[in-house]
Amino acid sequence: MVFGWLIRFLVVMLLVRLVWKFLGGLVQGAASRPQVPPAEGVRLVRDPVCGTYIDQSRALTTRRRGEVHHFCSEDCRAAFQQGKRAPSV
Ligand SMILES: [Zn+2]
Repeated sequence: MVFGWLIRFLVVMLLVRLVWKFLGGLVQGAASRPQVPPAEGVRLVRDPVCGTYIDQSRALTTRRRGEVHHFCSEDCRAAFQQGKRAPSV
């Protein structure tokens, strides 16, 4: 009855593999689910120094002559305060 045992073993192995594949597919499916889109109402502002668009809520700001300017980084803000502007391309 060694042969019967071997076949049963192979069937079990096959089932385990199928279940494993199925579970792997589930995990992968969950992982590849599209990311939640950014919340609506996110306002993009343009950094006047480097021209990058940044999320307004995360931008650095400075106020000059009653106008608020937004920057992607401290470097850009410092450059702006020193009077540097984005090259007008
Ligand atoms: Zn910048």
